[in-house]
Amino acid sequence: MAVYSAPVIDKHGGWLGIVVVMHDISELIRLERVRKDFVANVSHELRTPITSIRGFSETLMDGAIHDEEAAMQFLEIIHGESVRLETLIEDLLDLSKIEKEGYTLRLQSVSVQDVIERSIRSVSGRIKNREMTIESHCPAGLTVKGDPERLVQILVNLLANAVSYSKPGTPIRVVASVSGGMASIAVADKGIGIPTADLPRLFERFYRVDRARSRDSGGTGLGLSIVKHLVDLHGGTIFVESEPGKGSTFTVNIPLSHS
Ligand code: ADP
Repeated sequence: MAVYSAPVIDKHGGWLGIVVVMHDISELIRLERVRKDFVANVSHELRTPITSIRGFSETLMDGAIHDEEAAMQFLEIIHGESVRLETLIEDLLDLSKIEKEGYTLRLQSVSVQDVIERSIRSVSGRIKNREMTIESHCPAGLTVKGDPERLVQILVNLLANAVSYSKPGTPIRVVASVSGGMASIAVADKGIGIPTADLPRLFERFYRVDRARSRDSGGTGLGLSIVKHLVDLHGGTIFVESEPGKGSTFTVNIPLSHS
C-alpha cells in the first residue's frame, strides 16, 4: 500500500485538514515480480544451451575433432542444443505475439474432426518409434467458432505433451463431445501424471513439474501457457485432471459455431 498525504489550507492560510490518498500497489508489485521472474527464466533457459554449445565446440577445436566417434557425439549435442534454442525462441516470439494487445484470431466455422486429424498427423513423427497409438472420436459435423491454425496448435501442444510424458506403448485418446454450448475436446494419456500440488501452476510460463525430464523431452516450459492464452482468446476454457502414475486428461472447451 502506498500512502500520500498533503495538508489542505484555505486562501487565508488557515489549516482545513489533510488529504490522504491510499493506493493499493500490491498488483503492481506482483506484475513487476512476474516480469522479473520472466526475464530471469528466459536468461537461464537461453544460457543453458549456449553454455553447452560453447563448451562442446571448444572441446572439438582443442583436438577432439580428430577423434571421429567423439566428434560425432559432440556435434550431435551441439545440433540438439541449437534445435532447443530455436524452439525456445519460436515459443517466446509466439507468446509475445498472442499476448500483444490487439492480436486477433482469424475466426471462422471450423470442423473439429479436421482439427483433430491434422493435429494427430502433425505429431505422428513423434510416436513412430514409441509404439504408441492415438485414437480419436468426434461426433459427425461438429463445428466450432475458431482459428483453425491456432486450434491445431492447441491440440498439437497437448498431444506432444501426452507423448512426452507417457511410456512407449501406452495409448492416447482424443475425444470430442458437446456440452453446454461448447465443443469439448479431451486429450487423455496413461502417462506419468501430475501431482495435485502442481496443477494450479501448470499454465504459468516456464512452470515444469520435473525440469530435467522436460528438458530431455525437448520441452520449453512455455507450451501450456501458449495453449491457455489461445483457449482464452477463443472465449473457451481448459482444465486438467490427473493422477500420478495413472495419467492425465486435458479438456479444452471451445464455443460452437452457429453458422
Ligand atoms: P514443457 O515444454 O516442459 O512440456 P508445458 O508448458 O507444455 O512445458 O508443460 C508444463 C509442465 O506440465 C511439463 O513440464 C510437465 O511437467 C507437465 N505436463 C504437461 N503435460 C503433461 C502430461 N500430459 N503428463 C504429465 N505431465 C505433463
